[in-house]
Amino acid sequence: MLLILCDIIKNMNSKELFKWYEKNHRKLKFRETKNPYHIWISEVMLQQTQVDTVLPYFSSFIEKYPDVKTLAKTDLETVLKSVEGLGYYRRFRNMHKAAVYIHENLEDIFPSTYKDLLKLPGIGRYTAGAIMSIAYDQPYSALDGNVIRVLTRYFNIDWDMSLEKNRKLLDQKNQEIIENMPSANIYTQSMMEIGALVCRPTETKCMVCPFKDECLGYKNNNALEYPISLKKIAKVELTYFVFIVTYHTKYVLRKRTEKLLEGFYEFLQVESESLSEAIESLEKLGISIKNPKYSKKVKHVFTHQFWSMEVYEAVVNENPEPEYYLIDDLEKIPIAIAHRKII
Ligand code: SF4
Repeated sequence: MLLILCDIIKNMNSKELFKWYEKNHRKLKFRETKNPYHIWISEVMLQQTQVDTVLPYFSSFIEKYPDVKTLAKTDLETVLKSVEGLGYYRRFRNMHKAAVYIHENLEDIFPSTYKDLLKLPGIGRYTAGAIMSIAYDQPYSALDGNVIRVLTRYFNIDWDMSLEKNRKLLDQKNQEIIENMPSANIYTQSMMEIGALVCRPTETKCMVCPFKDECLGYKNNNALEYPISLKKIAKVELTYFVFIVTYHTKYVLRKRTEKLLEGFYEFLQVESESLSEAIESLEKLGISIKNPKYSKKVKHVFTHQFWSMEVYEAVVNENPEPEYYLIDDLEKIPIAIAHRKII
């Protein structure tokens, strides 16, 4: 298989691909720049998130934090508030850490080599490859879900792509391809665009695809069978009782320390099967609520978890500080997305 791939790779038609890209690519703000800082921010935002969702966040983020120094000098909580709603917040904590690292160790100069990019928190092979190829026009593979889909269909690659060793192998093949391309920047961007616009997860528009003449997925009429992934993600179901508690006119909140949504505020929440057990658990945490009133049931789905939340409103008569936070205006703080739904 690998030998066959190498032969086809040498013949991959960059002319048709680049022509298609020139005519069809979307004019996205973060694709019209070669500023590595902007490209980095957009790539972090685009992880697990749709382009349409990212666009308004990207513009306001760049306005607030126009360079790495401004980002590094802003506290993490304020940065998290700016991206509230995008989910998967570990990426933004890493982004902030990386900005602080650049500020403290690199005199605010964004790294310009693949090796140095990989030293930054949260930057892996894909993001480093995307920055190197798009910002610096250097031939480094940027293999994301879109590119995996296009390549596995194009070559009819039947490897289990949920395995890291197979993704690494495909990354090497993509590296060979990009090294043979006249422009690394346009190759990376055009593959991303083909994946987003033409070779989509559940639909292919092969008749308008520049790969139509060579693509095995099209020739064999089996494109939608690829990529192959044998791993299924098991979701854990959790039942929570959530209490919107007020002390006088202020909300009582806690700040999450768990890995999931770390640093975000949330209402008081306990995992429980019954209200009485939940109230008991709260008491053990030092919160004695009065008159809980049922409000609603809210559900939220994360990648690995499903939260079913029974929401109650209640008051406390004792000041719960300093273990908990008293907040006036919920709009001013970053709130865990699952609890933002409750408000
Ligand atoms: S020809 Fe069809 S299957 Fe092949 S890459 Fe293009 S859209 Fe995907």
